[in-house]
Amino acid sequence: MADGYSNFVNNGFGKKLAKQLGLPQPPVLRRYEVGQALLDGPAAVGVVGAGVAAANAAAIIRSSDATVVEATPDASYGDKLGALVIDVTDAKTLADLEAFRAIAVPAVKALGRSARVIVLATTPSEIDDVEAAATAQAFEGITRSIGKELRAGASANLFWVDPNAQGDSSVLAAPLRFFLSSRSAYVSGQPVRIRKHGVQEVLDWHRPFEGQVAVVTGAARGIGAQIARVFARAGAHVIAVDIPAAGDALSKVANEIGGTSLGLDITTPDAGHKIAEAVARKADKLDVIVHNAGITRDKLFVNTDADRWGSVIDVNLASQLRINEVLLDPATKGGLKDGGRIVSVASTSGIGGNRGQANYAASKAGVIGLVRELSEHLADRDITVNAVAPGFIETDMTSKIPVATREVGRRLNSMLQGGQPVDVGEAIAFFAEPGSAGVTGQVLRVCGQSQIGA
Ligand code: NAD
Repeated sequence: MADGYSNFVNNGFGKKLAKQLGLPQPPVLRRYEVGQALLDGPAAVGVVGAGVAAANAAAIIRSSDATVVEATPDASYGDKLGALVIDVTDAKTLADLEAFRAIAVPAVKALGRSARVIVLATTPSEIDDVEAAATAQAFEGITRSIGKELRAGASANLFWVDPNAQGDSSVLAAPLRFFLSSRSAYVSGQPVRIRKHGVQEVLDWHRPFEGQVAVVTGAARGIGAQIARVFARAGAHVIAVDIPAAGDALSKVANEIGGTSLGLDITTPDAGHKIAEAVARKADKLDVIVHNAGITRDKLFVNTDADRWGSVIDVNLASQLRINEVLLDPATKGGLKDGGRIVSVASTSGIGGNRGQANYAASKAGVIGLVRELSEHLADRDITVNAVAPGFIETDMTSKIPVATREVGRRLNSMLQGGQPVDVGEAIAFFAEPGSAGVTGQVLRVCGQSQIGA
């Protein structure tokens, strides 16, 4: 979908005019292309206290061929930095907040376009000492604020790293690479928890799904089509699911990516079995299920009838429960394998609520509840369950929003623009990667740090 304003103020006369009038100029975000370098400049890596995560992070960054320099209070950076990674896992007292400030300020000043700030802190719920917990939690406020101040497509995100995972570079590698790379173009101000887990070495970071089968629902258009493309690019065979009426569009997507199309209404009672049968024609077991299909039937709550209520809950939430139940049954041929991945698409509406969307927000908040609980049930089978909560993404769904509301949705975020469907696809692929085994029960907003739905 076209963002006419962004195009205008980023080109020729419009660019000059916007500068003169002081109008917001949404930056052109760096986005992933095959073969692209991880960073657009050196990474400064710093540490407060004696944290061990910094050395791990530096080794991971070096292994991607990026240059690492040390972040210190008196460093002077010759080149524009591609990233600042700062390890505060050992921060225990409020005085450590000043130590962080002193290291981070010169580096943040030196950040280049679409640069990344990543703060590695200890998961507060894993800390017993009160001052240490307060100190750790302070980094959420700091990171979110820095994210709101950064410009030119730069982002700031926070990792809550469990104490027993801080010395484990295998569990840190996939999250660090995703959040440093341009694949996280529209993710800012977000905390993600990383737990200890035995993670297999990843051989090819550009094709982590080689030999895997992934099912994507709602894949005929919009975000789902883009999720399917991202998985195919990264090596997966994709089974693209959408309603039978979307047949032509669905076949087009499936053909383009060398996948399989499956015309299926996910609300039908045997949908889970139909999906498993399609998987069984390709492989013994399924590696990844992405629950993306969704609908809106907006009305003020007081005007919402049983049909509007029920249809949205059924497509967006109940069908996920039913399909998961079938795919998670170990007896199901073509069901999800142990070590597999479930990723659901929620929405920022499910976090902050939205006028005229009580039904939709109920379904999306329900998805968040599902993900958090199911992740615990499946931990012993090494299946991770996560959700992505998109904010304003440029699709057919958002093109129907009245123009004034649409402009507000587009601009009221740290990136000053709507996200692209591919941004959601990249985040989902991150959760599904074999290297993300230490990330489960999480909800990641892909919203450019939107102030709506906050
Ligand atoms: P879209 O309407 O463009 O695409 C949704 C797809 O799901 C369509 O192809 C549709 O045919 C399919 N679908 C609907 N009901 C189905 C059913 N019963 N069985 C099978 N397929 C079905 O929407 P989108 O903008 O691409 O949204 C994709 C997901 O992202 C949805 O879950 C949506 O709620 C969520 N989301 C979107 C935005 C946004 O800004 N566009 C924001 C937050 C969340």
